[in-house]
Amino acid sequence: MAKTPKKPLKAETRLITAGRDPQSQFGFVNPPVYHASTVLYPTAEDQVAHRSRYQYGRRGTPTTEALEAALQDMEGPNCGGAVLVPSGLAAISTALLAVVGAGDHILVTDSVYRPTRNFCNGMFKRLGVETTYYDPLVGADIGKLFKPNTKAVFVEAPGSQSFEIQDIPAIAKVAHDKGALVIMDNTWATPLYFKAFDKGVDISVQAGTKYIGGHSDIMFGCITGTAATYPALKDAYNYLGLCVGPDDVFLALRGLRTMAVRLKQHQEAGLKVARWLAARPEVARVMHPALESDPGHAIWKRDFTGASGLFSIELKPMSEAAVYAFMNALTLFGMGFSWGGFESLVIIFDCNEYRTATKWAPSGPTLRFHIGLEDPDDLIADLDDGFKAMAQALA
Ligand SMILES: *Cc1c(COP(=O)(O)O)cnc(C)c1O
Repeated sequence: MAKTPKKPLKAETRLITAGRDPQSQFGFVNPPVYHASTVLYPTAEDQVAHRSRYQYGRRGTPTTEALEAALQDMEGPNCGGAVLVPSGLAAISTALLAVVGAGDHILVTDSVYRPTRNFCNGMFKRLGVETTYYDPLVGADIGKLFKPNTKAVFVEAPGSQSFEIQDIPAIAKVAHDKGALVIMDNTWATPLYFKAFDKGVDISVQAGTKYIGGHSDIMFGCITGTAATYPALKDAYNYLGLCVGPDDVFLALRGLRTMAVRLKQHQEAGLKVARWLAARPEVARVMHPALESDPGHAIWKRDFTGASGLFSIELKPMSEAAVYAFMNALTLFGMGFSWGGFESLVIIFDCNEYRTATKWAPSGPTLRFHIGLEDPDDLIADLDDGFKAMAQALA
């Protein structure tokens, strides 16, 4: 049996202890990785009665239960349970399918992760669900957008690529008054820095591919719910036949153990690089809610307990060639999608490719950075070289 600690534990400690009972597995620190489909019953009577702790690989193993328990623990006491799915996008689509159906209407923030929009505009449209996109800064005015059949409000803070902070408690209050649920994409802050269920969220999704995995080597997603919404999530998981391979479950659990220290470093280094970029003459604006100058800073400070290592910048007007020269000169920043790993990344993006409810009018090109676990001084020196190459291209 696991020993029971004498005092309530802090979040960092709980990440180490949650979902782990070494004495139930011969003392080994980590749970075994069960590769499994069939589960054998000892007798015909047991088989007929489904009398077994586990029924079938897809329906759960000690390995998946360990990760589910740890994820639920990370969310805090207002969480009713966690469901594991093969990607962050699967977490989004499964959460939506769990609680929204034909004839329903949903409200989705215009700053949402682009594939969430693809799901709503594609599959949800085909299934008879109507989507309205709204300004992420709408706050309590979201009430004006409700229809009699509005079933859910989808929030994401900060917004993908553009980093607007939403007033989630205000939106949740209106949604609940009108009998709708709030679904949040909490990939950026993670439950360590935003306690979704304490702020009125009913269902939270994370791309575990990002900070939970932390090493750019797994695809994984998780959905957590309150005691009220969790059963619908588990049903949707079972209907859809989803499951995550045991090796990826193991890597997610391993990533979770070090997530608090990694996030602390991503936050600190990210802020150092963001402040340095904000002071550069080539940069018009840094989109990072933990910067005092950011329009979302006050709400971020009120609702969040930290920031991760992902933010964007808007450059002053310049040629594409100059931006490419900057990016191509970088040696420590990889150019690629996804984020949350130990390495730094940069991409160029344009929200105008998909926004419909709000105007996106930056003065110049926009870049998104993920600040990894390298020494930030090395990253700053690398960016300085990039700006030199930019200047040459502009000359
Ligand atoms: C990456 C990402 C996802 C999707 O995660 P995958 O594991 O790549 O499917 C969802 N939401 C946000 C905010 C993301 O950044």
